[in-house]
Amino acid sequence: MLEIKNLHAKIIEEDKPILKGINLTVPTGEVHAIMGPNGSGKSTLAYILAGRDDYEVTEGDILWNGKSILDMSPDERAAEGVFLAFQYPMEIPGVAGLTFLRTALNSVRTKRGQPELTTPEFMKLVREKGAELNIDVEMLKRPVNVGFSGGEKKRSEILQMALLEPTLCVLDETDSGLDIDALRVVSDGVNALRSPERSMLVITHYQRLLNHIVPDKVHVLSDGKIQRSGGKELALELEKSGYAEYQAA
Ligand code: ADP
Ligand code: MG
Ligand code: MG
Repeated sequence: MLEIKNLHAKIIEEDKPILKGINLTVPTGEVHAIMGPNGSGKSTLAYILAGRDDYEVTEGDILWNGKSILDMSPDERAAEGVFLAFQYPMEIPGVAGLTFLRTALNSVRTKRGQPELTTPEFMKLVREKGAELNIDVEMLKRPVNVGFSGGEKKRSEILQMALLEPTLCVLDETDSGLDIDALRVVSDGVNALRSPERSMLVITHYQRLLNHIVPDKVHVLSDGKIQRSGGKELALELEKSGYAEYQAA
């Protein structure tokens, strides 16, 4: 279970507070959506969960299965099962997708006390996961994300997520820039990974993703705080009303 308690955070370089007291609990096995206007702090929250170092937590705590993760490095968090799918996946010229994935997976496996996979074992696993998720793994022979379409980038993120077997999945605007077909592949992939052992935080600006990934709860983030929480119907309401009533005065 994920427990975010009175989380305040700022961007170190700007000395600018972004998160202003977030309280949020995602029980194991549940999928919660975070919706909110642009600039409300959604990506900041995702980065802080993953442990990116441009941000400083000034107050509060993040507990994952009862343990604070704030002092853990991004690698340690990954080993604890935390996974972030980025809004803007990074391009890594010169590194083949398969090499990148195998390195990431073996690093996590080592930290979890599991043996590293050999190249043939890894290839078998990638093909199996790709087939399960309906994702063509051919693109992974190319350098990571270089020249990928929006849909290809998100598909490779979903495949990476499936391989690393995280228990906390944070998806930051996985739907941005996707056409309907890509949206379906990504949503089906996420739904296939839903499980009683896994918590998911799905961040989105638009309601449409939540037609495909139906959340247990929806939270509205605005001005660095959760302004409202509700069931899946809250997403539909927001689609009609917009975020105007939640904007900072
Ligand atoms: P969202 O994902 O909800 O659109 P963000 O978390 O990206 O919001 O941004 C929250 C606020 O922090 C915005 O006001 C944004 O301009 C600011 N911000 C985010 N990252 C940086 C940065 N690296 N430098 C300066 N301001 C930033
Ligand atoms: Mg944004
Ligand atoms: Mg964002």
